[in-house]
Amino acid sequence: MGLLGKTKAELAKYATVLRSSGKENSELNDDFEPVVVREKTEKKKEEGPVEMTACSSCKKEISTSVMKKNLCVCPECGAHNKISAARRVRNMVDPGTFRKLKCKVPFVNPLDYPDYEEKITKLQEKTGLEEGVLIGVGEIHGQKAMIAVMGSEFLMGSMGIAVGEKVTYAFEVADKNKLPVVMFTASGGARMQEGILSLMQMAKTSAAVQRFSDHGGLYVVCLTHPTTGGVSASFATLGDITLAEPGALIGFAGPRVIEQTIGQKLPEGFQTAEYLEEHGFVDQIVPRSEMREVVGQILKLHERKRWPL
Ligand SMILES: [Zn+2]
Repeated sequence: MGLLGKTKAELAKYATVLRSSGKENSELNDDFEPVVVREKTEKKKEEGPVEMTACSSCKKEISTSVMKKNLCVCPECGAHNKISAARRVRNMVDPGTFRKLKCKVPFVNPLDYPDYEEKITKLQEKTGLEEGVLIGVGEIHGQKAMIAVMGSEFLMGSMGIAVGEKVTYAFEVADKNKLPVVMFTASGGARMQEGILSLMQMAKTSAAVQRFSDHGGLYVVCLTHPTTGGVSASFATLGDITLAEPGALIGFAGPRVIEQTIGQKLPEGFQTAEYLEEHGFVDQIVPRSEMREVVGQILKLHERKRWPL
């Protein structure tokens, strides 16, 4: 059973169900719910051995609490390990200013993919995220912005219908309310469980960015490890200013696939943030500890009220 087995009416459902999720937002306040962003797993541990986390790069065992305090950057080798969407938001925004944007997208399983719904439900409980991207409004050094953070902890941050809709909605609300957009990408690409409908999100999100841009909106994107596939080929690479975290893997297909396709060896460091900065694709590599400061400065420089035309 795939899309081909569906009737026209069933297919139309996928198009209409999405738009009904986001009511027309005339007032910003109507669309936001205040949330406290905290890690799901923050429970008081009983006395016992210190919990350790292995660095994804140097493989050294580091105490989990040290790692978290260090924004998941390895104190030994400086590798930027994966960070949850909630923790990223907490590290980026001024305390107490983040409000999640309400955008409930009903679950759909267009290919009748086995166990897909159970998988999503389990991930929602485990990660505290509704889907692969967290969107909301917050202040960064006193500058109000729409903030969208992809969570690689949610099915590799893969983009399906819900992620596409949330990203689009974030740009639409930002556009109406004249807010800049600050996006953190982390994604394995399109979500295979949703077939071609996930690929369509590339066009949809790209169009949303274009509309936002046509109206003079500022879009700052930070590419984090890994940003690949359909996300790198759509809204991740359409920013006005493109930042990246050190060592992040950024590309479309994996290096092995490219090598097999073109029959050539790829250059050293290909698809890393550093390589892309050198070749003009990334504007600046910013360590995680400085990200809030740098993004805050960018927003301040582009403040609408500051330079009235
Ligand atoms: Zn390390």
